[in-house]
Amino acid sequence: MSRRATLLAAVGSALALSPLRSTPAHAATPLSPGLPRRPYVTSPREAGAVYDAHTATRRYAEPLNAAVDCAKGTGGAQLMATFVTRSQWGARAPRDVSTSITPGQGGVVVHHVDAVKVAEPSHADCAAQVRGIQAFHMDSNGWSDIAYSHLACVHGYLFQGRGENVRTAAQGTTQGNDDWYAVCALTGGTTGDYDVITAGIVDAVRYGINRLRVSGGAAAAITGHRDHHSTDCPGALYGRVISGELNPSGGPLPYPGVSFRQPPATVHASVATWQYRMNSAHGFSLTVDGQYGPGSDAACRSLQSRRGLSVDGVVGPATWGATFA
Ligand SMILES: [Zn+2]
Ligand SMILES: [Zn+2]
Repeated sequence: MSRRATLLAAVGSALALSPLRSTPAHAATPLSPGLPRRPYVTSPREAGAVYDAHTATRRYAEPLNAAVDCAKGTGGAQLMATFVTRSQWGARAPRDVSTSITPGQGGVVVHHVDAVKVAEPSHADCAAQVRGIQAFHMDSNGWSDIAYSHLACVHGYLFQGRGENVRTAAQGTTQGNDDWYAVCALTGGTTGDYDVITAGIVDAVRYGINRLRVSGGAAAAITGHRDHHSTDCPGALYGRVISGELNPSGGPLPYPGVSFRQPPATVHASVATWQYRMNSAHGFSLTVDGQYGPGSDAACRSLQSRRGLSVDGVVGPATWGATFA
């Protein structure tokens, strides 16, 4: 069965089995007496990345009217994910909405939830997980809303977060929140023990990035949270950022639209992505700090020389392409 047919069949069977709920359960709903109150699982290195383990109740009804939503990604790749609107997942209203974001100067940052596994085996539990994250961000962190622009689950659904044209609170830096959207994968873990990255979540992340570009004016750059802030986030997904697999049209990672040069040193999160790749794929030992200083310039000239490019110490489209090819 095709993926679309599978999804439609799943929606159809859910319709046949479950009555439509007019008022989805909210995370704020008190727990039944006798249910254990388990603590939030948080990672000290990942401000804003939280997972409320107790919210995975069985009471949530599947968002029955979620649309199977197809789009052409940049470059024409067909993307298909099921988009779950805020009302469908039972979001609380934001306390405040800031449109002070300039994503044409940044792009999209990929996150995960935590350094422990969090992916729900059953999609019926994903909406409650998203409500738990929103409740933690609003009630414990005091933020105006769930931090992320969108959230993707391993079952191929994209949950609407703050959405397009709204400033995020996810990146841990003012510059990151000023210029970058945030897509959070509902996965976690550490190296060697990470949630399975399904084709569905890759498609959903790509769909989210495509939405943020088409409807939200995001620049082409895709970075991992670790390119902005001292964190392991997005864990095992970072390799997929670097490979370009999370790009709506697939790899390699697209040129961010900003040339790196010095002096003065270009400061941009995509410089960190580039420095990481120069170390991991080309044998350099650069400090990954997002600042294009003399060491980065020298490494750039070395790579340009090796690849027969003009040696000018500037990372433009050709040198970026040689770095990520
Ligand atoms: Zn993160
Ligand atoms: Zn799911």
